[in-house]
Amino acid sequence: MTATLSSLQALKTKYQDIPLEAIIKQDILRLGIYFSEDSLRIASGFKPKDYFIFSFDLVTLEDMEQNTSHLLKAPEEVRLFGGEMDLKPTIINVRVNPKSPYSVEILEGKLYLYCEGKPCSEVEYHPLPDYYGSELSSGKMISEITPVLEWGYLIYLTVYRLCQYWGKDEECQFCDINENYRQQKKAGREYTGVKKLEDILEALELIRQKDNVSRAITIGGGSITSQLKGQSEIEFYLQYTKAIKEKFGDRWIIKANLEAFEQEDCRRLLTEGGVDIYHPNYEVWDPKLFKEICPGKERFIGRDNWMNRIIDAAEVFGPANVIPNFVAGIEMAQPMGFTDLHEAVESTREGLEFFMSRSVMPRFTTWCPEPLAFLKNQTPPPLEFYVKLLRVWRDTKEKYQLPNPPGYGEPGVGKAVFSVSAFMDVIR
Ligand code: SF4
Repeated sequence: MTATLSSLQALKTKYQDIPLEAIIKQDILRLGIYFSEDSLRIASGFKPKDYFIFSFDLVTLEDMEQNTSHLLKAPEEVRLFGGEMDLKPTIINVRVNPKSPYSVEILEGKLYLYCEGKPCSEVEYHPLPDYYGSELSSGKMISEITPVLEWGYLIYLTVYRLCQYWGKDEECQFCDINENYRQQKKAGREYTGVKKLEDILEALELIRQKDNVSRAITIGGGSITSQLKGQSEIEFYLQYTKAIKEKFGDRWIIKANLEAFEQEDCRRLLTEGGVDIYHPNYEVWDPKLFKEICPGKERFIGRDNWMNRIIDAAEVFGPANVIPNFVAGIEMAQPMGFTDLHEAVESTREGLEFFMSRSVMPRFTTWCPEPLAFLKNQTPPPLEFYVKLLRVWRDTKEKYQLPNPPGYGEPGVGKAVFSVSAFMDVIR
């Protein structure tokens, strides 16, 4: 794991059209971040990580408890600004890593980002929304039922916090959803496996009364290959989107992070469920890697089917509202992945061409090699992989003159709120 100040500068010189803010954001997402005890003790009014779906950490909770317990209070996101690097405000999802070259410390009474021991920029932590301390009538905390991300913009409803792709032959190899559920329970935390609709509606009503920052809701969870509480996957998730749309109308943009359904089910999501944006995430483009890295998706749906269903969904939702995700960086997971970063980006570019030439807009999150996923103990891809990918993503979007993705807040450096990759930060 090497960094960083010299490579940041070298990549800034080589990729002059990519803002330094986006480069450092990708580096912190790639390598994680450490917080000094003082930086978490002195700061107040911030929102700790809610572990809204995956762990998104480079260390287990058990390890943290034993060796660096103060990190259990790490914030959900940081916002960098100003300082020696004169950064525009840049919001970044926190992946805890005690060994990261990046750390937050206190400098002259202020939170400060350090890299390799040198001060870089000032830091703020994700603010705690007013409604966050509220308890629901079921006794659950609102933070557990409707956690908020992206500096308050997005409410993330993982209504099913497990996945029925079980074990090494089915689970996506980068994903720790099932293991994260187990580690949260083992640590004695409240962590609801299947969220009750009544809790969600009550929580959203409280948010509607007290908050005017949130603009979108993502609904999702693991795959349901058989049934859950007597319902198929489409029925299970539809009950939530439908009830939310009926009660709250257009108060929030409804985004659904679900499997690639057939067109008829997509139509139900749109017409019955009121879903505005559909995310049938394809994770990785390369056909061979898809089969190895997403064996459950391959077995139950199949790679070509998955990609074709994404295109079919565009006829239902409109192509601009179909935004499938891929997990950038798993192209270089070993031993199956690319070893050359340029070949890895070229492979991913093929996927971007395939979708964007049809006006569908893929977006990406940044791979976090979590220690409880099957792809553990992996060296993160080189930073240049991400910087080059940002350029390819933006240039392909511009080539096909696609609109900015809806449901992601304002685009551009200094304004973007999407925190798990810098694709929104590089839009010109
Ligand atoms: S489908 Fe794959 S990425 Fe999604 S929750 Fe299941 S194992 Fe994880």
